[in-house]
Amino acid sequence: MSGNRVKVAGVEVSTDHWIGGRRVASKKKFSNFSPIDGSHLADVSAGGKAEADAAVEAARKAFPAWAALGPKGRLPYLKKFAEGIKARVNDLAAVETMDNGSLLMGNVHRVVPRAAQNIEFFAEWALTLDGHTIDSPEVVNHVKYDPAGVAVLITPWNAPLMLTTWKVGPALAAGNTVVVKPPEWAPLTCSLMADIAHEAGLPPGVLNVVQGIGEVAGDALVNHPDVDRISFTGSTDTAKIIGRAAASSITPLSAELGGKSPFIVCADADLEAAAQTVAAQYMNAGQVCLAGTRIMVEKKIEEPFLEMVRGAASHMVVGDPRDKDTRVGPLIHKEHFDRVAGFVDRAKADGAVPLWGGSRANFGELYFEPTLFAHVTPELEIAQREVFGPVLTWQSFSSDDEVVELANNTRYGLAGTLFSRNEKRAMDIASRVTAGTIWVNCFFIRDLAAPFGGAKDSGLGREGGTWSFDFYTDIKNISVRKGSFA
Ligand code: NAD
Repeated sequence: MSGNRVKVAGVEVSTDHWIGGRRVASKKKFSNFSPIDGSHLADVSAGGKAEADAAVEAARKAFPAWAALGPKGRLPYLKKFAEGIKARVNDLAAVETMDNGSLLMGNVHRVVPRAAQNIEFFAEWALTLDGHTIDSPEVVNHVKYDPAGVAVLITPWNAPLMLTTWKVGPALAAGNTVVVKPPEWAPLTCSLMADIAHEAGLPPGVLNVVQGIGEVAGDALVNHPDVDRISFTGSTDTAKIIGRAAASSITPLSAELGGKSPFIVCADADLEAAAQTVAAQYMNAGQVCLAGTRIMVEKKIEEPFLEMVRGAASHMVVGDPRDKDTRVGPLIHKEHFDRVAGFVDRAKADGAVPLWGGSRANFGELYFEPTLFAHVTPELEIAQREVFGPVLTWQSFSSDDEVVELANNTRYGLAGTLFSRNEKRAMDIASRVTAGTIWVNCFFIRDLAAPFGGAKDSGLGREGGTWSFDFYTDIKNISVRKGSFA
């Protein structure tokens, strides 16, 4: 595999697109820097309409043969693809950390292995899709999951490899071919993923990667007339733009978006576990869509619980994400740092008071202190908008009705976390909070078979398990009159 390559963390990575089974360079490039220390990592090909057209054409050409293989025929390719990811866990983890500043240990032990699972799990699940029948008095309904065609997959920078494989896995397993548009602030692991797919023998055109700026390469892909599915993870504002493109061609769109999730702590909870989990919301500098950023604590335990959280948060070491003791690495980019700092400044001006943090951390340009705001009223910007940084708010409640109202008082509905030892109470609150996922006495445990997505401004549709296949296929009913065959 020739073309333009750079070495990142000792690993060779192509900076070209991957289209139709070969590397393709663009004249235009965009620069990619590491948030760890600002070092220049690569100049990456910046695709536009021509590259989008070429990739969709390659995917379309590869589609009939890939679809015809059926789930059983695709399984060996996808298993090999997953094995290839596992074999390169350390390389992928090191590159991801350099590229987006996420914690190296987390990438090695959880994130990259999960990327392999994303491919393997859905490849196996696809074997169970067809064969479902519904018996009616006059007919038998045979339910079939036909591959939809070409899927465009667009992902953000906070976990590019994991989020991309979460889409690539079911899309390919269902028999589609795909065009991936990685995030421009962290494009490199998706490029490595293309090498691994190629080494696993995926036929040319089955998986394509178009690098580039969202408003250019992404825009060209979502407006392409020959695309059958768009799966997007990113911000709500971008989803509105992509939604307009999808609407104009009636292309099904799945959107996994931002959040401002509540983290509810009842007085009857295991408070030590709850305090540790609150502190864990600072991991990866809070650049986690599912983070429970609005802490809501039952009034009667407010003071002792605050001290427990203070203790737990003091272990959230800010530093180089390659260091195993670090819990809070850098923010991704100067632009994003300024956005986070802007939220913090406006929160202070609005009367919210930082109990700790509130400034740039004493480590490097893009590092921000873990921050907790008190004196937060529900209408404040800091209680309403997603910061996507290590910034939490603290509110208290006296009744379950009050906390449900508080929890639901945003435009978002991605997730929620709740700690209580009282099952009836926990299940009652959980069922009344509007969100795609509610964790009770745990956090961030995601079974690939379970539905995932957001309510309200946090998303459109669900992926995971059978919901992924509902999206990535055209479900067909072959309705056969009983006794009509010779
Ligand atoms: P973003 O919306 O700016 O970008 C996401 C992707 O969309 C990037 O690849 C970008 O290049 C592309 N893009 C931008 N404009 C486009 C356009 N006009 N047409 C097509 N593509 C375009 O989001 P971001 O800042 O990269 O990511 C942070 C956001 O992602 C946060 O809101 C976070 O909560 C959300 N997120 C959600 C989940 C989830 O599963 N719900 C997971 C991770 C992140």
